[in-house]
Amino acid sequence: MEKIYRLNDLEKKIIETLEKTNDLTALEELRKETFGKKGIFNQALEDLKNLAPLEKQQFGKALNLTKEKIDLLIKEKTLKLEETKLEQTLTQKKPDWTLPSLPFYLGKTHPLTLVLDEVLKIFSEIGFSSVHGPEIETDENNFGALNIPEEHPARDMHDTFYIAGENLLLRTHTSPVQIRVMKKQSPPIRIVAPGRVFRHEAIDATHSAVFHQVEGLAVDENISFADLKGTLEFFNKKLFGKEIKSRFRPSYFPFVEPGAEIDISCTICKSQKSNCPVCKGTGWIEMLGAGMVHPNVFKAVNIDPNQYTGFAFGIGIERIAMLKYGISDMRLFYENHIAFLSQF
Ligand SMILES: [Zn+2]
Repeated sequence: MEKIYRLNDLEKKIIETLEKTNDLTALEELRKETFGKKGIFNQALEDLKNLAPLEKQQFGKALNLTKEKIDLLIKEKTLKLEETKLEQTLTQKKPDWTLPSLPFYLGKTHPLTLVLDEVLKIFSEIGFSSVHGPEIETDENNFGALNIPEEHPARDMHDTFYIAGENLLLRTHTSPVQIRVMKKQSPPIRIVAPGRVFRHEAIDATHSAVFHQVEGLAVDENISFADLKGTLEFFNKKLFGKEIKSRFRPSYFPFVEPGAEIDISCTICKSQKSNCPVCKGTGWIEMLGAGMVHPNVFKAVNIDPNQYTGFAFGIGIERIAMLKYGISDMRLFYENHIAFLSQF
C-alpha cells in the first residue's frame, strides 16, 4: 500500500512539473525522465519484482493506470505547445512578397473549338442562329426525311453505328437537326447546326470515326441559288481572306437538288505552284457541299415546296482547321498532346 501512496505522490509531482513546462524542449526532457529507459516508470517496474504476488497485482494495475494518464497529459500538452508555436510563427513572420511565384499554366482553346467558334460567329453576322440536337438519332431523322430511303446507296457512304434492337443510330451528319427544326418551326428559317457526327470509318490521316460539322439551312419564300452562292462566298472570304475565290461544281447529295461542291482558291500557294501539295497544282481546294433543299425533304416535314424554297450546306470543321493551320494529319486533333495543342 505504501508504494501506491508513493505512486500518487509521483503522479502529483509529474503533473505539477507538466503544468509549469512551457516550451517543447523542456517537455521532451520531462517525457524522457518519465518514460525513458532509465525513467521513473521503468524504475518503478524494477521494484515490482520484489513484491508479494497480491501486492504485485495491485501495484502493477495502479502503475499502468498512472502511466496511461501521464502519457495522455504529455501528448495533450505537446499539441497545445505546438499550436502556440505555429501561431507565434505566423504572426511574427511577415510573408516575403518578393519571392518568385509558382509556375502557372493557362489552358488553351482546342483548335477545333477555335474554328467552330469562328464559323458560328461569321454566320451569326448574317442572321443564322445556332441550334443543337442529339447525337443519337432516329433512322427517320438521319436518313428517311432527308430523301435517303432504306435501299438508297448513299447509306453506304454514311455507314454508321446502330443501337441494337432500336431504330436508333449515331447521327452521320448534323442534318437531322435541320429536320427537327423544320418539323417544329415554320419558315422563315435561318439556322446553323454544329456538332459531333459519326461514321463507320477506318481511321487515317484524313478520316475519323468521330468528327465535327456545321450544317446550315435557310428556308423562305423566293430563296434562290444566288442566295446560296452569296452566303457561301461571304463565308469563304470572311474565313480565309478577301482575295479568296470560290468555285461551284455540280455534285450529288440526296437531300438537295441541284447540289454542288464548293472549292476555294488555294490558300497555301495562292494558285501559283504546280507542285503545291495542298491543291496538287490545281489551284483549288475542296471546301464543302451544298445545294437547294430537295422538295421531298420539305414534304417529309410538312413544308409546302410550292410556296417555299431553301438552301443547305455542310462544312467539316476538321477540314477547315487543317487548311487554316496547315495540319496534314487530323488524328493530331484527338491525341491530346500538349506540345501540339499549345501552339494555337
Ligand atoms: Zn496550292
